[in-house]
Amino acid sequence: MKTRDYQVLDRAHHLHPFTDFKALGEEGSRIIERAEGVYIHDSEGNCILDGMAGLWCVNLGYGRHELVEAATAQLERLPYYNNFFKTTHPPAVKLAEKLVQLAPEHINHVFFVGSGSEANDTVLRMVRRYWALKGRPQKQWIIGRENGYHGSTLAGMSLGGMDVMHGQGGPCVPNIAHIRQPYWFGEGRDMSPESFGRECAAALEAKIQELGEENVAAFIAEPVQGAGGAIMPPESYWPAVKEVLARYDILLVADEVICGFGRLGEWFGSIHYDLKPDLMPIAKGLSSGYLPIGGVLVGDRVADTLIEEGGEFFHGFTYSGHPACAAVALKNLELIEAEGVVDRVRDDLGPYLARRWGELVEHPLVGEARSLGLMGALELVDPETGERFDKVLGVGNLCRDFSFAGGLVMRSVGDTMIISPPLVITHNEIDELVTKARAALDATL
Ligand code: PLP
Repeated sequence: MKTRDYQVLDRAHHLHPFTDFKALGEEGSRIIERAEGVYIHDSEGNCILDGMAGLWCVNLGYGRHELVEAATAQLERLPYYNNFFKTTHPPAVKLAEKLVQLAPEHINHVFFVGSGSEANDTVLRMVRRYWALKGRPQKQWIIGRENGYHGSTLAGMSLGGMDVMHGQGGPCVPNIAHIRQPYWFGEGRDMSPESFGRECAAALEAKIQELGEENVAAFIAEPVQGAGGAIMPPESYWPAVKEVLARYDILLVADEVICGFGRLGEWFGSIHYDLKPDLMPIAKGLSSGYLPIGGVLVGDRVADTLIEEGGEFFHGFTYSGHPACAAVALKNLELIEAEGVVDRVRDDLGPYLARRWGELVEHPLVGEARSLGLMGALELVDPETGERFDKVLGVGNLCRDFSFAGGLVMRSVGDTMIISPPLVITHNEIDELVTKARAALDATL
């Protein structure tokens, strides 16, 4: 079939996620046909540097035959069996063991699911179940953050703080509140980052007091907000938040769906920020996106209670710990480990990106260029005033369109441009990424 045939059929029958379908117009969708390394190839013959690793997930890059072989071998041997009741299979058990080895010491169990959203649905039920078992069933409230993202199932979108999502298909799951985000460039530039970080942590304490500490079950947050705009909190933020949570005996859920598996230069974002969370939802980079799989890493405090006091937990999915997905995830983790990918992001690629990406701050359109590990953001500002354009899907969207045409995938959130490339990117490819990003900025100016 030709490109146009795909586009016509696509428009006729295919409802894309997170897409204004009408806005696709006559032009239609770009058809991605194949990929290799850090590059995707479309049906028109364009080769595009994937600065977003798909949707923040293709950590090992495209075309890894070891992952294909792991899937094929498992599909031939045992394509499906479930983990319900008293059955399991080798890939699920081996993956659980590997994850626990990589996780912080106090985490010794994992509950498998199919995606990041399912992981957060599981979190919501586990957290409330935990407190019920502890004889404190009134501890129901979960506090998330404005502009946080935890998925698009009903529980995921309710835990997340995206107003546009809350406004569709509601009402949201009850007893979920949101506090301000530690987004210094967007909301805190009238004070130092450190003061702002402490102020955001104080907002958590104020919300706990407003709801009543006896009613609050957990705080959920991404170590670094991903979809909200690659927002690295000020250094003062996490220590202050941890202190508040400990004081009021409230569980910490660190959503590692993006930050996990090397993105920030550690196996988990929680290790970078020394969070010691009670629960860590995971997905995406767990399998480098080759097959869908997620999980919840469960700390001893919660796991021991669920196991010792909980009886049957009436929760799980047909594809919890699917054998082929688990086999691919296991191989993916083994490759990341054997190839020293996490250390390379921390010691070499992350610092190199920080230097090269940081140079873009010289551009008249850029107010801030930040990165941590292999996640980065550019804050676009009006060159005349230095202020945000403040148009949702405005200048950032334009810049993204130019970069796509110029051979680079970046993502835009309002006037913030984001990158999160595969963790196997080379120095030369980082140079290419920065050159193409600069060209997109020039074209947008
Ligand atoms: N949590 C975070 C932090 C995410 O970024 C995402 C997806 O982007 C999710 C959860 C939801 O994951 P999924 O799209 O696999 O359901």
